[in-house]
Amino acid sequence: MKIIPIPLGYTTCWVIRADGVVAVEGGAPGKVQNFLRGLKGASITPGDVGLIVITHGHWDHIGSAREIREVTGARVVMHRREIDGLQGSFTPLSPGVTIRGRIISGILRRYMPRVKIPEPVVDITLGDEDLHLSDFGVPGKVVYTPGHSPGSISVLLETGEAFVGDLAMNRFPLTLKPGLPIFAEDIEEVKKSWRRLLAQGAKMVYPAHGRPFSAEAIGNALS
Ligand SMILES: [Zn+2]
Ligand SMILES: [Zn+2]
Repeated sequence: MKIIPIPLGYTTCWVIRADGVVAVEGGAPGKVQNFLRGLKGASITPGDVGLIVITHGHWDHIGSAREIREVTGARVVMHRREIDGLQGSFTPLSPGVTIRGRIISGILRRYMPRVKIPEPVVDITLGDEDLHLSDFGVPGKVVYTPGHSPGSISVLLETGEAFVGDLAMNRFPLTLKPGLPIFAEDIEEVKKSWRRLLAQGAKMVYPAHGRPFSAEAIGNALS
């Protein structure tokens, strides 16, 4: 198995290649060419991508999903609670839950890009149940991990790699060290989701913003 990071703006799209290929995140808007270049660099044919997992509906996670779906022919999965949020009252950010989070959230809200984000086409609407990825040639599952937003989902591989979207953060200026998110709709839900992920074997954390880190940092933040 190989894990390939493809930067799509400030967001990393993690591409998991086993017997099949699963991509996590649709990135910032206008980044489909970056995605294709990233695939090419890893010698992956666009048509090999079977599934695009969108962890949640914030603009920097759905931005290029519609175009990536078109160029790959992959199916897109999202949680139903995020899909509801895409129509109409689309919230660009979860509230800050730390002092740093509140400051940055205040700044971002004022300067949010006024770009129109192409609404993603969703093929698989997930409820709170797991989606096993064996059908897509990847040993793992999509699990429901609310907290940062009400319908956040994560990918957990059998070998312990967890692709968690914004359930963790590890990128300046958001955070100075790896840990829990600084923005969340419900930080207690974030902690509950993490306890479930750790209990199910999460060992290495792949956040949407920043480099991978050991899940021990999360364990410390919870205790
Ligand atoms: Zn987010
Ligand atoms: Zn984000």
